Amino acid sequence: MPVPGLGPYDDQNIFAKILRGEIPCRKVFENEVALAFHDIAPQAPVHVLVIPKGRYVSQADFAATAADAEIAGFVRAVATVARELGLESAGYRTLSNMGVHGGQEVPHYHVHLFGGGPLGRMIALS
Ligand code: AMP
Repeated sequence: MPVPGLGPYDDQNIFAKILRGEIPCRKVFENEVALAFHDIAPQAPVHVLVIPKGRYVSQADFAATAADAEIAGFVRAVATVARELGLESAGYRTLSNMGVHGGQEVPHYHVHLFGGGPLGRMIALS
């Protein structure tokens, strides 16, 4: 069983299928480097996922292997999505799970964007 966030990229992961248009998503933003869509199981009033279009397993993979322009474009895309969703003035949270301890389930790098109300403590161990 491959560890999410590590190992080779799996073209059958759910976000790869969304990028190929094989399964639907509730899209909120798209440009040349990133796609953003609503999380299917939201954990905040606004819960959006921002993913790079490239084949990156995790934040570690993205940081190590993506081109500088792609990294810059992706960081800017996350902030653009937050602004376009009207989250900037009240604030928001971004989070990226990596690997087993991070609780990563989908092995395509993604940033969770939460907002729309007070978000409470940063993390709660359970
Ligand atoms: P992570 O645990 O960081 O890998 O988060 C994966 C996220 O993907 C979870 O919050 C899921 O609810 C979300 N998710 C899984 N499948 C879909 C889908 N088809 N469309 C939108 N979000 C999804």
